[in-house]
Amino acid sequence: MPLNVHPDIASLTPYVPGKPVEELERELGIPKAIKLASNENPLGPSPKALAVLAEATATLHRYPDGGAHKLRVALADRWKVQPEQVILGNGSDEIIGLLARTFLSPGDEAVMADQTFVIYKMEVTAAHGKPVIVPVREGRHDLAAMAEAVTPKTRLLFLCNPNNPTGTMVTADEVSRLMARVPESVIVVFDEAYYEYVQSREFPDSLAYVRQGRNAIVLRTFSKIYGLAGLRIGYGVTTSEIAGYLNRLRPPFNTNSLAQRAALAALTDEEHVAQSRALNQTEMVAVRSGLAVLGFQPLPSQANFLYFDVGRDGREVFQGLLREGVIVRHIEGRMVRVTVGLPEENRRFLAALKKVVGTPTR
Ligand SMILES: *Cc1c(COP(=O)(O)O)cnc(C)c1O
Repeated sequence: MPLNVHPDIASLTPYVPGKPVEELERELGIPKAIKLASNENPLGPSPKALAVLAEATATLHRYPDGGAHKLRVALADRWKVQPEQVILGNGSDEIIGLLARTFLSPGDEAVMADQTFVIYKMEVTAAHGKPVIVPVREGRHDLAAMAEAVTPKTRLLFLCNPNNPTGTMVTADEVSRLMARVPESVIVVFDEAYYEYVQSREFPDSLAYVRQGRNAIVLRTFSKIYGLAGLRIGYGVTTSEIAGYLNRLRPPFNTNSLAQRAALAALTDEEHVAQSRALNQTEMVAVRSGLAVLGFQPLPSQANFLYFDVGRDGREVFQGLLREGVIVRHIEGRMVRVTVGLPEENRRFLAALKKVVGTPTR
């Protein structure tokens, strides 16, 4: 049948999600496979979130609160902004799409790094905008080059911090120099999905730019440290003006009632967050040293994953690990990303990797 598809859409490649554990177990008949591919919290969901879910099911016959009032008020309170400055998304992914569709006209430009979250390029292209891609340096955003890449057509600048998939961060000083150079009309998108894992004192206070009224949006999510990836809920903190425009395109019931309730509870679960952060800290050290023993040197990471050069075709290593029941992420070429998991998962990953790289490739 004849079918007309816009070339921008035809040019997209479908997002390849991390393989679900059940699928690997089914395909290869491997029991107890482990997934270290999507940067999920290995400790599971916040127990406080789980506790409210059962109760929340009683009202599933009702539509959710489209304005997610309680959660927006709680987030506004937490980050010292007005509730009108908070927008919720079906995952922060959805807000990236809303940003592209709201602010890009065909041909408008969005500046982003070459090794970063793949959704930016996808959404910008789908909105018929032009991704302007700036190479990273040693896995870090090159903010000077990104500022240089801004033209009168630039509407959005994506800054993933810490960066996925490299795990690296840019500092407060670097961001401050960027903000001084970027025209105020450009919306700077601070994607901080791993914010709660960050340990560095040099990490920028990006919300300060929002509070100053700069055209900026800070994206955070309940999918990572809060352990609610399956519920799909994330948020943006921005100016009331930007939030107002995004809300014109936001589907009215984009976040469901279970997600709203669970997120509200998870936000107060400081113990779960602290435990998750502590586990990540100690285990990241363990994984890093295990990798060093095998001769690998991951980039410095402020997130909950490590990114490293496997010194040979990364796909082969990825597939070798799959056969051992360990799912990681092959990024491109020789680069692989692995999520820091539970102690026993990490040990299994290291043992599997040793086995795979110890076997000469044909
Ligand atoms: C995981 C992730 C997100 C958030 O995803 P959602 O589940 O849609 O909230 C956003 N940005 C980056 C860089 C991520 O790694």
